[in-house]
Amino acid sequence: MSAAVSGQAAGTPPAAVPFYAPVGDEVALFEHAFRNRLPLLLKGPTGCGKTRFVAHMAARLGRRLYTVACHDDLTAADLTGRYLLKGGDTVWVDGPLTRAVREGAICYLDEVVEARKDVTVVLHPLTDDRRVLPLERTGELLEAPPGFMLVVSYNPGYQNVLKGLKPSTRQRFLALDFGFPPPDAETAIVSQESGLPRDRCVPLVRLAGALRDLKGQDLEEGVSTRLLVYCATLIAGGMKPAQAIRAAMIEPLSDEPDVKQALLRVAEITL
Ligand code: ADP
Repeated sequence: MSAAVSGQAAGTPPAAVPFYAPVGDEVALFEHAFRNRLPLLLKGPTGCGKTRFVAHMAARLGRRLYTVACHDDLTAADLTGRYLLKGGDTVWVDGPLTRAVREGAICYLDEVVEARKDVTVVLHPLTDDRRVLPLERTGELLEAPPGFMLVVSYNPGYQNVLKGLKPSTRQRFLALDFGFPPPDAETAIVSQESGLPRDRCVPLVRLAGALRDLKGQDLEEGVSTRLLVYCATLIAGGMKPAQAIRAAMIEPLSDEPDVKQALLRVAEITL
């Protein structure tokens, strides 16, 4: 099983810093964590800007970024590496975490609680003052250089008792609570990302707020900033708002006809 990895081009720091609108003191906290060689945990719902924030910070700090979308089949070997057969030879191939440690890059493990339990075993020695990655298979003990940083995220909303991060793991990280941006900030973000004028984004953000208030009743998750950007992008591209709202802000939230009807009613009242 291979990990889903996206790394920016090797060798040079990323050229452009991706747009990220700060909503609090998260930029300063990240910089302090990086300078003090401390790992960081980002908590928050899906689509609220965690991945964008990490990409922005990596570029700002001139570090390469390895992003791994964790899933329930992801094992420690997917992160550290494994021996592979290449042209009759068996060669060791570094996984994304090992590459990040060797290169002094930032490694971002998105939805880390989804991964298999053996992943925590490799994370523990990297997240205390040892900052080492033992590679049992090759016999190496890699010391993380100052440029290495581990960032993990998880969505507390999804977790059940079994899947939550164990205190022994979470207490190794500085933590940052990510929520959806406040309405003014979210309007600016949606407008910037979609190209739709701000005044036309205002009602969409208001609707997102109303739909988020329903979370926990019939909905597991409220509308994400990502979905709002999709909706505004469709409208900016010429789609009728009612159609765009249905496709981007109603249908993705539920499969239940009754719930969808209720959401549509909320949309009619709010807009
Ligand atoms: P997460 O990692 O939390 O699931 P993302 O970082 O992928 O979410 O955010 C989804 C989208 O929302 C981004 O692609 C971006 O368009 C937008 N977004 C959310 N918050 C911000 C922000 N503070 N600044 C800029 N864009 C944002």
